[in-house]
Amino acid sequence: MAQKDDCIFCKIARGDIPAEIIYEDDTVMAFPDINPATRVHVLIIPKEHYPTTMDVADENPAIAGAMMKAAVAVAREKNIEKSGYRLIINTNDDGGQEIYHVHMHLLGGERVGPLRTR
Ligand code: AMP
Ligand code: ZN
Repeated sequence: MAQKDDCIFCKIARGDIPAEIIYEDDTVMAFPDINPATRVHVLIIPKEHYPTTMDVADENPAIAGAMMKAAVAVAREKNIEKSGYRLIINTNDDGGQEIYHVHMHLLGGERVGPLRTR
């Protein structure tokens, strides 16, 4: 499996850094964000290292489907599928990406608020 030694999310995927695994299948896993922005804030990552959405699209777009499937499973597990939630994937600087191992944020458990503030 292609991983990077110095990548924090690869370390979580390997089990080198502890995280509460909420969902896992062959290709993706989910764990709580360490600095939650909302009552429910879960990150969904591929187990393999893809830096950005563009790498997923170019190399293995099926990963995107697996990430969405995991997000929905987590939303159901957290009982927020009816109240609702927001899925976000930040890409590069203007998108606010801080960790260059692609990840989907699942935000919910309360009103998430406006998509964008100036
Ligand atoms: P982004 O700005 O989209 O790259 O989001 C990175 C997210 O990773 C932030 O919301 C951080 O709070 C979160 N994060 C950083 N380190 C950890 C960690 N060890 N476990 C869980 N979440 C983390
Ligand atoms: Zn990685």
